[in-house]
Amino acid sequence: MSDRVNRTYFCRTCGNEVIFTKDGGGKIICCGQEMQIKKEGFDREE
Ligand SMILES: [Zn+2]
Repeated sequence: MSDRVNRTYFCRTCGNEVIFTKDGGGKIICCGQEMQIKKEGFDREE
């Protein structure tokens, strides 16, 4: 099991966000660059 699973990734260029549900081993690319892991603790869900 990868620690990438269930993380939120975002694209700094266009603002897309994706939740990673299965690690197939590849990189997550958007707008020609690798998407960044969104740090936990910044989002408030209420
Ligand atoms: Zn993008």
